[in-house]
Amino acid sequence: MERDREGLLRALADQVHICLECRLAESRRLAVVGEGPLDAELLWVGEAPGAAEDRAGRPFVGASGRFLRREMEAAGLDPARMYITNVVKCRPPGNRKPRPDEIAICTALYLVRQVDLIAPRALVALGATAAEALLAGEVRMTAEHGTWRHDGDLSRRPLPVFITYHPAAALRNERWREEMRADLRKLAESRERVAYGR
Ligand code: URA
Repeated sequence: MERDREGLLRALADQVHICLECRLAESRRLAVVGEGPLDAELLWVGEAPGAAEDRAGRPFVGASGRFLRREMEAAGLDPARMYITNVVKCRPPGNRKPRPDEIAICTALYLVRQVDLIAPRALVALGATAAEALLAGEVRMTAEHGTWRHDGDLSRRPLPVFITYHPAAALRNERWREEMRADLRKLAESRERVAYGR
């Protein structure tokens, strides 16, 4: 079973690496599948690879990724136990926001399957693009960061979705940085109650 999941995840990664399903394939260097253990307890979703990730083929390896991992650790969330990926797997040119059709194609082909294969206990949306890709309704970031929503519509199993800021936004804005810190502490506390989503 474990071997099956590992093999299916590897096959999915092979598909992502050669994907030509949307225009982002024309300008990307390396597609970025995501990484983390097969038994990750949380699956974190960012927006899209940036320049550093496009070069490395790995998620969140630039400044915002270093910040994110530091903040996870500070909150008591072990980054080694987390699976980290993005809504779209290829860098949009000039770091523009991914377009609705790119999001629709990439989530249907890849993110949905990653969530089903990893089967985490909950999802963490990093920023509004991720939150809106994972949830059925509109997301009001300033009001909803640090909270759980239960209208996730990506996975076959409804998983709770925790909303927080995108680390690049938090890096730029001191107030959001403090709020993201508090959000991650809250996330870690809900893990201690063995009840993500409450
Ligand atoms: N920003 C993201 O949303 N994802 C990455 O992988 C890197 C930066």
